[in-house]
Amino acid sequence: MPSSPLTFYPSPPHAENLTDSFGRQLTYLRISVTDRCNLHCSYCRPASENYQAEARSHILTFDEITRIVRVAAGLGVRKVRITGGEPLVRRNLTTLIAKIAAISGIDDLAMTSNASLLAQAAQPLADAGLHRINISLDTLNPARFRALTGGDLAPVLDGIAAAQQAGLSPIKLNTVLMRGVNVGGEESEVARLIDFAQLHDLTIRFIELMPMKQGLDWKRHYVAIDEVLARNDLQARVAVDAPLVTGNTAARYLPHKQGTGKVGFIMPMSEHFCSGCNRLRLTADGHLRSCLPANTELNLRDMMRQGADDAGIRALLLRAAMTKPEIGIYSFTQGKDQRSMIQIGG
Ligand code: SAM
Repeated sequence: MPSSPLTFYPSPPHAENLTDSFGRQLTYLRISVTDRCNLHCSYCRPASENYQAEARSHILTFDEITRIVRVAAGLGVRKVRITGGEPLVRRNLTTLIAKIAAISGIDDLAMTSNASLLAQAAQPLADAGLHRINISLDTLNPARFRALTGGDLAPVLDGIAAAQQAGLSPIKLNTVLMRGVNVGGEESEVARLIDFAQLHDLTIRFIELMPMKQGLDWKRHYVAIDEVLARNDLQARVAVDAPLVTGNTAARYLPHKQGTGKVGFIMPMSEHFCSGCNRLRLTADGHLRSCLPANTELNLRDMMRQGADDAGIRALLLRAAMTKPEIGIYSFTQGKDQRSMIQIGG
């Protein structure tokens, strides 16, 4: 019997999701809560004298951020990462963590930090609902740490210990590879960092240097992951012939030769992982950025401050998803429109 309109049941309407024009669903929102940092890593920000942080009035308030996350959760966002600048320089950050943790639908709440202020903050953050943390650590040499960041290594190590004690898990270390800083000749710290991570039951990920607007000469310092995988000291520790394991993140993992841990590799320059990208970024000054290297941004802050309702926020989030390019292309010129990592949040 032919079906009549009365016997035809359309599938229930799907809740609208943040999907880009290539069918990728954006479920991961990275939120920068400040463009200020207490460290001065030259690969992340222009030299201090050339860096002007945004006026505080331009930075999103906790209520604005919470409202955006609530609307984004309604569009299928499930993971939020708080970043910066250094997120821990933002006053009362635990208040924001608690507000986001209470939003229905957000089941993964993470942070990226330099950990220098984490010793005091780790337990309150965990109590407020933070699940896990990634910590930047490029060197274990105190003098080199000071030269690279302008700060001290000891509080970072204390911060890592405090995060472990507070039960934040997993804790991942992020190491940006830089020739002449932590890779190459006598400077190489690859083996030392792997051993440190293994000893402390942490997962370390090595990241290729990206050419953002920064103070460091990218061409001089860039090291491809392949070069690191060919090193004898790495091969003594990591099973480089094992199949690279892909999680739902940008990292690829190889197992330790001894023990059960793994080492991660993030290759934004030598391997596009764009096909699996599920990220949308919100800058500290309230711009939606759909791709790390692409300068396309939509100004959500001004829209909200001009009185946009939730439907307006939702519409801009959906529009931002549609601006996501199929592949992110890095620029090697320091154009005036280019933003530094400290402004975007990594
Ligand atoms: N202040 C925090 C921190 O140090 O982790 C969070 C912000 S930082 C911008 C986020 C991440 O971006 C860090 O892991 C940092 O190492 C990474 N990063 C910054 N500049 C980079 C670059 N030029 N290439 C690759 N990674 C970079």
